[in-house]
Parts: sequence; structure tokens; C-alpha cells
Amino acid sequence: MCNIEVKRKAISKKTRIEVYEKYNGHRAYCGCEMELGEMQVDHVESLYWYGRVDDLSNYMPACRACNFYKSTFPLEEFRENIKTIPERLEREFIYRLSKKYGIVQETDKPVKFYFETVNRNFVRCIMKLKKCLSITKCKKFSIFIYPKGHIKERRGMDEAPLKMFDIERNEKGEISYSEFLDFIKCEVTEIIPHSSGVNIVAELN
Ligand SMILES: [Zn+2]
Repeated sequence: MCNIEVKRKAISKKTRIEVYEKYNGHRAYCGCEMELGEMQVDHVESLYWYGRVDDLSNYMPACRACNFYKSTFPLEEFRENIKTIPERLEREFIYRLSKKYGIVQETDKPVKFYFETVNRNFVRCIMKLKKCLSITKCKKFSIFIYPKGHIKERRGMDEAPLKMFDIERNEKGEISYSEFLDFIKCEVTEIIPHSSGVNIVAELN
């Protein structure tokens, strides 16, 4: 047993919000959405075993269940523990019975954590965009997509954008991002709010 005394930093409210926003309000492991209040901050590499990294890069937004089951295990061991849950359930008579009746079916699906399936740049863009749009109170606005380098080089919107989206808030003031989400999955370099909308500078594939 390793006996290193590790001082755990108290996590500030600001850092908690940053951790929460890392995956746009999703839990890093199982991927479900959650409220900030339900979030537990997990250390990817446990402080107990690794002793050092105690910053945002080592923090993951997690739910109580995943955080509990991961415990101090390294990521790959956690994955293995999830993968082999059915082996442990096999000891239960009712589990074996439910399989016989086809109520429970086992699959060979590989265990993928949510954070392994999302593009961090994309998540960052969405968060930034949401912040920009929460400042803009307009009911209707437009999103213009320009090629990379356009705004810095030309300092103006004289050129026609590559693509334009007209967006309208619903009665609750919410915005539907679905229309242009696929479009901004590319490399976004700048998000610039202005009076009638938002300019997104992006490198399109
Ligand atoms: Zn979870």
C-alpha cells in the first residue's frame, strides 16, 4: 500500500463551474446530463496513487454512481470493472433467470466513456456560443460563418459569409442549436458577438 500523504485542494465554485462546462453539462463517464448541484468532481488519476496532478486537466464532472464505482482506480481498471459487471451478476439466480427469458441481454459492446466520444473543441465552441448568446438579448438574430482568417485579415464583413443561419428564440427565450450544430463541428477559431447576431470564424472541412 502506498502511503503518500496527499493534500487535496478545496475546489472553488469557479473551478466547479469550469469542470461542469467541460462536457457541456454531461457526465464525463456515463454521459447523462446533470445539474451543477448533482455533480461530483472526480480525479481521473487518483491523488491517492499518483499524488500530484490536482488541477482542471485531472478533474472530470461525474455522477455519484460513477464516482463511487471508479473509486481510486485508474481509468483502464475502471473500464475493466464496468466491462465485467455481468460476470459478477452471474452469481445472482435472478440474473441468470432473466437471461433465460431474454429480459436481459448481454452484448459485446466495448465500454466507451462519454468524454472519449466528444470533440473538446466542439464543446468549447458551444459553451462560448451560449455565453455570447446569453449576453445578446435579441429575440431574432443571425449567425454568419466565415472562413478562417477572414475577420482578422479583412476587418469587416464586406465579403459574403459562407453560410448564414437565422435564429429565433422561443417564448421561453431558449435557442435551438440543432440547425447549425453540425455546421460548427469544424475547427472554430473565433466567436464574435455583435448587435444583430454572432460571427463565427471557422475552418470548414
Ligand atoms: Zn455517471
